[in-house]
Amino acid sequence: AIPQRSPQEIIDLRRRHLNPSLSMSYREPIKMIRGEGAYLFDQDGHAYLDMVNNVCHVGHCHPAVVAAGQAQMAQLNTNTRYLHDNIVEYAKRLSATMPTELSVVFLTNSGTEANDLALRLARTYTKANDIIVVDHAYHGNSPTMIELSPYKFDGKGGQGRPAHIQVAEIPDDYRGRFRRDDPEAGAKYAHDLHRAIAAIRQRGEAPAAFFCESILGCGGQVVLPEGYLKHAYAIAHEAGAVCIADEVQVGFGRAGSHFWAFEDQCVVPDIVTMGKPICNGHPMGAVVTRPEIAQAFMNGMEYFNTFAGNPVSCAMGLAVLDVIEQEKLQANAASVGEHILQGLRALQSEFKLIGDVRGTGLFIGVELVRDHHALTPATDEANAVIEYLKAHRILLSTDGPYDNVLKLKPPIVFSHENAEEFLQRLREALTTLQ
Ligand code: PMP
Repeated sequence: AIPQRSPQEIIDLRRRHLNPSLSMSYREPIKMIRGEGAYLFDQDGHAYLDMVNNVCHVGHCHPAVVAAGQAQMAQLNTNTRYLHDNIVEYAKRLSATMPTELSVVFLTNSGTEANDLALRLARTYTKANDIIVVDHAYHGNSPTMIELSPYKFDGKGGQGRPAHIQVAEIPDDYRGRFRRDDPEAGAKYAHDLHRAIAAIRQRGEAPAAFFCESILGCGGQVVLPEGYLKHAYAIAHEAGAVCIADEVQVGFGRAGSHFWAFEDQCVVPDIVTMGKPICNGHPMGAVVTRPEIAQAFMNGMEYFNTFAGNPVSCAMGLAVLDVIEQEKLQANAASVGEHILQGLRALQSEFKLIGDVRGTGLFIGVELVRDHHALTPATDEANAVIEYLKAHRILLSTDGPYDNVLKLKPPIVFSHENAEEFLQRLREALTTLQ
């Protein structure tokens, strides 16, 4: 049996034997031993309401997903060079959730691998090199993805922007140049891609890809203004680039209104990448693209990935799709998300600290500011809210360039009762801060 250690013993062993740069959540980290639905349980059996985990999407340890994995693990697990039902069924089911032109699926082991592969596809297809990303974006942990993630290359330990990357202005209609009262804000922000493309041409290169999350996560839970992707995609396409929608954080029904968050923007990407929620915690990622882009590899290098798309992962991925459908979880995300947004807007009229409330479905941001004109980020206050909620057994995180945005992305089984509990505790936290 694995020895059961105290939190301090675990911290000491982590210090000695694990990646020393890996941070821990909270001033006093929690030892979790079990998960169920929207709850995590610590070593003393205390239940914590989980509003952070966007990986255990259909609920922690969902019995149908666990059973699918267990059964397949006991039957067969191999690579994808033998014929197997699971992988073709999965590819068929996954592409059925997409616009019809997105019909070819590549499986990977993570969101990073999905984005790495998307970039290779884009470069092979366009025969171009340079990349346009949106400011503050994070797309993965590989050297290639760090090079195209402003969140990393502009952050602590970062090396700055590489020459082959252009950063488009973040279309943040709360803080940015064009605000929510401007119906043209989406088009105006997209216009910045012209500048990025001109800079690429200036260096004698061409753009291979425009990468954009369908709702900006690390950027601070920024909902793209209406028309942003439509205009940005048109500009990118005209310059010969392919458009890649990173749905790693926001896909699989979380946005409520649609299964994929890009659908809210009325566009069809050339490539969609996904990960996190895809197998409810088991590692898998995917790239879905148009047949002509997938064909690009046929005249060049094969793509093979040892673990990706194995029968166990596909069985679990299928179970996740089944559960989302059977338990109507996309509709749940829409209705509970709306409940939370309304509650937050009521709190906003009461507490000056809340500068902005935004989101869709169960992907919501609450931006805390010290004043409503200068929009001075209330970073310490955001952290105090997180610690207050933790003391009352609700788990929440912060994000955004100033770390002042409360980031709501719970498992999408989150209920109306859970929403009420959160809103009450948040009101208490804000009251103590006033
Ligand atoms: N894209 C986005 C938008 C992400 O949020 C993340 C992970 N936080 C990734 C890609 C990378 O995914 P992974 O950690 O599974 O490699």
